[in-house]
Amino acid sequence: MNQYDALVIGGGPAGVTAALYLARSACSVLLCEQLTPGGQLLMTDCLENYPGHPKGIKGYELADLFAAHLEGLNIDRQTGAVDSVVGAAGNFAARCDGREYGAKTILVCSGARRRPLGLDREDALLGRGVSYCALCDGNFFRGQTVAVVGGGNSALEEALYLAKIAAKVYLIHRRDAFRGTRVFLDRLRQTPNVSMLLDTVISRLHGESGLTGLTLKNVRTEEERLLPVDGLFVYVGFEPATHFLPPDLNRDAQGFIVTDTEMRTSIPGIFAAGDIRSKLCRQVVTAAGDGATAAQAAFILLEQLR
Ligand code: NAP
Repeated sequence: MNQYDALVIGGGPAGVTAALYLARSACSVLLCEQLTPGGQLLMTDCLENYPGHPKGIKGYELADLFAAHLEGLNIDRQTGAVDSVVGAAGNFAARCDGREYGAKTILVCSGARRRPLGLDREDALLGRGVSYCALCDGNFFRGQTVAVVGGGNSALEEALYLAKIAAKVYLIHRRDAFRGTRVFLDRLRQTPNVSMLLDTVISRLHGESGLTGLTLKNVRTEEERLLPVDGLFVYVGFEPATHFLPPDLNRDAQGFIVTDTEMRTSIPGIFAAGDIRSKLCRQVVTAAGDGATAAQAAFILLEQLR
């Protein structure tokens, strides 16, 4: 079994940053990533709030730069999902892609996946009109009518993206106030092919082989109506994937991992960084900051374990 100072789980901004900081501190590092480095960056069209890029930077470009930064560093890479972590500080064992690895510390940077609405037939219509990624699937709806559900930055940003492709975009939100950023909201209000349907929830998906429409319900009046659409993009937040971690690891009510300000979890030797962590702000910069802090805290522990 290969032994490492640190096992970094996840190759998004938090994991890449943690891995490169640890490698530059001469720690031996294994980075396990399910697919390819970049995480949610690969599902983001353009980042307008990434410091140093006043004209914005494409998500895939930043992901490429992150990946390039790992080249030449002493970091082992393994593609695959980690399905278990057991042990204690100085002596953890993890399974990734059917192989077992030993690590003195674990840095959980595995992010979060899109939360489904939980409607009947949502799974069956996935890829047949229902999508969680406008960048991946938006082009299938060129010139058509789509709906976006959610009131956070993802919904607002993706509604703007889809408005450039689709003929008509309905933004459906369950309240009359948005939690997303004002700049996106102002832009949406000035986009002629976007209509906002507020205080509205989706109660039913229609269509057999493909989505044909939505039953909408106004939460104030209880009135229902049918909205014909070709596509539905769901942006109702994220849910963390922490099933592979010890059950006694402290999580918040939504399942995100609770850490202190040094990214230490309730289990000594396990650190968490990025979107998997219970916190207010989920951005590329905060994920990278978490990753750097987690690496520094892990390094201090590794020194104590020597
Ligand atoms: P989010 O901020 O958690 O927003 C989720 C939205 O979905 C909320 O408006 C929520 O409504 C709504 N919602 C939740 N469950 C629902 C349900 N069952 N039915 C209908 N609506 C439901 O998620 P997010 O927009 O994906 O953003 C996640 C994080 O990433 C945030 O920190 C965000 O700022 C960040 N982000 C940043 C950018 C950027 O800066 N460019 C872009 C994307 C994401 P309520 O408001 O009523 O709770």
